[in-house]
Amino acid sequence: MEDSWKKAIDEELDVFLKGKRSCPHISKRLLVYSLEWLSVGYFSALYMAGKKFAKNSLAGKCVSDNMSEANAFLEDFFVKAGIGELKLVGESGVRYVYRLENCSGCAGMCPVGKQICYFEAGIIAGFLEAKIKKRVVVRETLCGGLGDDCCEFVARVN
Ligand SMILES: [Zn+2]
Repeated sequence: MEDSWKKAIDEELDVFLKGKRSCPHISKRLLVYSLEWLSVGYFSALYMAGKKFAKNSLAGKCVSDNMSEANAFLEDFFVKAGIGELKLVGESGVRYVYRLENCSGCAGMCPVGKQICYFEAGIIAGFLEAKIKKRVVVRETLCGGLGDDCCEFVARVN
């Protein structure tokens, strides 16, 4: 696993230094890879940070508690923040499934055998917790880090 992270960092650095391909998100990725490579548990810190931000500040900016309006607000936020195009693709009362296209964290990256979009998962979790007022756990099931062409997040309401 460590070797694949080192390879991902080296590849991104090559692209960054040689400018072979232009990618506006490359420095963010380098930071994420490097921190993960250096420190175990960095991802749960990212998830908690995203969750805290969404719960304490983002959710308050969405006045509606109606879930379809709240989800539209969340999708709009992802675009405006430059994270990517988020779309709710399924829901069943206790579960919400989102797809994220062109994710700034992982789109087109070299796969590292692991999902990496924990900050984004945390944002969804915190936002939903604030709106539903129940505990929500979000797991990323598809990711560029796993070699997928988009991210998928499954939110489970407990
Ligand atoms: Zn991802």
